Amino acid sequence: LVEIHDVHKSYGGHEVLRGIDLTIQPGEVVAVLGPSGSGKSTLLRTINHLEGIDRGSVTVDGQLIGYELRGGRLHELREREILRRRTQIGIVFQNFNLFPHLTALENVTEAPIATGALSKEDAHELALGLLARVGLAEKADQYPRQLSGGQQQRVAIARALALKPKVILFDEPTSALDPELVGEVLDVIRDLAQLGTTLVIVTHEIGFAREVADRVVFVDGGVIVEQGPPSQVLVAPEHPRTREFLAKVL
Ligand code: ATP
Ligand code: MG
Repeated sequence: LVEIHDVHKSYGGHEVLRGIDLTIQPGEVVAVLGPSGSGKSTLLRTINHLEGIDRGSVTVDGQLIGYELRGGRLHELREREILRRRTQIGIVFQNFNLFPHLTALENVTEAPIATGALSKEDAHELALGLLARVGLAEKADQYPRQLSGGQQQRVAIARALALKPKVILFDEPTSALDPELVGEVLDVIRDLAQLGTTLVIVTHEIGFAREVADRVVFVDGGVIVEQGPPSQVLVAPEHPRTREFLAKVL
């Protein structure tokens, strides 16, 4: 479903992604682990073209997201077309990134209405259903500042679901939360995984990764150092850098 091929990305001469190859199957849950600064967020952001790439390609369901191929070369698409293609990919950030001036419900209806995917009435109905699904039916009319971090993050997940994306990306979705709020967000992600949603989750929650992920990808220094089922990578890692990392976080 997601095909990442030989992706390179530099910031001002510093190569942050140094040739990433990763294929994600429909329904697969992939946990991305790695030290701070290893390129996890950058990798995630290249998938929906929040970051451009210098080399390689990223396709979702066979379609390039930020680029088109012309004369054998990649050319960046116009903003409008990028936005249109990006609707196939949901993303949830560490700091929720809700629109502060919109209610929970309006945060969820914004994209389907703005993209013309749904009428106002249909978007409203969908959003109520999604908020109920993340346990927030009662909070539809509250503004982000009136919600706890865990509630805000659940709204963000409902918002990501609103365009019925083919894949949802999570960038450390629980690391800004107070410990007692982590569980409610992980529960929602776990439900998505069990429903067969394709997920890519950057996380430091090793226990959660072990439980929910089909595959764990360990990134260090902008390359994938090791990957495999959690029972292998998290329990009997082959690479010394993976072992060293796990020894620190476990
Ligand atoms: P963390 O676990 O701390 O979130 P990460 O693995 O997500 O780390 P990235 O955010 O992908 O790491 O950053 C990788 C490297 O790229 C870092 O050295 C960072 O400073 C650099 N970097 C990221 N974004 C930018 C940017 N917009 N401009 C310049 N450098 C950047
Ligand atoms: Mg990051």
